[in-house]
Amino acid sequence: MRIIHSGVPAAGSTLIAVVALAILLFPGRAAAESGYGLDPVLDAAYARASEAARSEGVALSITSGGRTPAEQERLWRDALATYGSPEAARRRVLPPNESTHVGGHAVDVGPPEGAAWLEANGLRWGLCRTFANEWWHFEVATTPGLPCPPMWSDAAVRADRLFVVPW
Ligand SMILES: [Zn+2]
Repeated sequence: MRIIHSGVPAAGSTLIAVVALAILLFPGRAAAESGYGLDPVLDAAYARASEAARSEGVALSITSGGRTPAEQERLWRDALATYGSPEAARRRVLPPNESTHVGGHAVDVGPPEGAAWLEANGLRWGLCRTFANEWWHFEVATTPGLPCPPMWSDAAVRADRLFVVPW
């Protein structure tokens, strides 16, 4: 094979290398460019689930996926204003340091029929509804094919149980 020295292929290879490096270093950010910013494991599981839903004629789409800390902070401040206290707000929206949407480990879906389908079928790909008060919120929470764990009553209960503040 002959290597032709020209600026264009070199620029092309550099671009490919930079994109590959970006995907390796920032998978969430690279995925964000496709719209949802999901963690690769959740992204792959959801892709297979939505394909199965479509093949069964079920409408299923993402209403919210990965979020930046700044986006979650905005939602958190809105929830504080809406619900009046941090205790009430945390049952619906978590602050950025606690939300699984930051980092792309959670996906909100709709419409309700699609979410119900995912709740019934998601375990095939390890996808589970995790909160009793959020019919739309799913995470990879089991080994594909095994039952989903029981739902938490709301996000605050789980955050209080699972997140240990180190100070
Ligand atoms: Zn959610």
